[in-house]
Amino acid sequence: MSRMFVPGPVDVADEVLQAQAAPMLPHRSKEFEAIYRRTSEKSQQLFYTNYRVFLTASSGTGLQEAAIRNFVDTRVLSIVNGAFADRWYEVAVSNGKDAVKLSSEWNMPASPDQIADTVKGDGFEALTIVHNETSTGLQNPVKEIAEAVHAVSPETLIFVDAVSSLAGAKLEMDAWGLDMVLTSSQKCLALPPGLALGAVSDRAMKKAESVQNRGWYFDLVRMEKHRNKDSSPATPAMSLIFALDYQLDRILTEGLENRFARHSAMAKRVQEWAEAHDQSIYAPEGYRSQTVTTIRNDRGISVSDLNSFLKQREMRIANGYGPLKDKTFRIAHMGETQMEDIEELLEAMEEFLKK
Ligand code: PLP
Repeated sequence: MSRMFVPGPVDVADEVLQAQAAPMLPHRSKEFEAIYRRTSEKSQQLFYTNYRVFLTASSGTGLQEAAIRNFVDTRVLSIVNGAFADRWYEVAVSNGKDAVKLSSEWNMPASPDQIADTVKGDGFEALTIVHNETSTGLQNPVKEIAEAVHAVSPETLIFVDAVSSLAGAKLEMDAWGLDMVLTSSQKCLALPPGLALGAVSDRAMKKAESVQNRGWYFDLVRMEKHRNKDSSPATPAMSLIFALDYQLDRILTEGLENRFARHSAMAKRVQEWAEAHDQSIYAPEGYRSQTVTTIRNDRGISVSDLNSFLKQREMRIANGYGPLKDKTFRIAHMGETQMEDIEELLEAMEEFLKK
């Protein structure tokens, strides 16, 4: 039974935890290089890409920074309709880039037309966007945005944060023409935190070669040279890679489409339950996340009392994020969570509401 209905870190299956306990190997050994290679090759399937996948010993934010430092000389557009999108903008500013923020209401999807109008003729080298905003439970129409941007400014690189969606909702890197897609281990992959995965297009790698001050730890040009030899410049997070290797087999055995359908069915169930109990969904219809549902606290319940009640049953949900704290609460349905877990949670929540 999965008990953590918070959007990461999520519950990790016992057998996946066990996989981390494999004995250490020298990281520059044939045995480890074989594991490294097969793990990054299997990971490509999650991104629907034939491009390379980097595995970094960091959380996802590390790769937000890597995208900015490696592929942007000066000018980048940040699409901001949630807290994590805003973080990416701040990452760009704090790395000295000329970052422009295109903001919209947090409960509205980013608009392909508005983005295309902003990018047109302005020479943005890149844009950043979050696929699934964990703060709002809103999924941005990344495919349509990429299409609109390609039509007006084909040279603009497109970077996508799929931290809370990759392996939980479909995102097709190659078919949609994306240049970098990144994720963290502790969300839909249902691994412990500490590992990030980032897939990068060839044209972005080419651009990186001419970008100055890429730093050292997240210099993807340096990383690529090592990756081509199934290795990494610094010591990799070996135990997490053992677990990823194992977990990828479980995920691919379930089948990505089946996994997406499982998430989507749980999202629908939670949305219907909330509405049947006089609580509305924060994100508009058509743009609702499959992996986390943000519910408006229309009944004015105490989210902390609700969580105390749930904790007696060893369950927990998440309060709203940042400015949405207490105004909303969030139920995650990602990773190992199954419909029967959701049913058990909703039953307990119903009991709380009746009190
Ligand atoms: N982007 C999104 C959409 C997130 O949900 C999070 C974390 O919750 C992050 C970025 C930051 O990821 P990390 O904590 O792995 O650095």
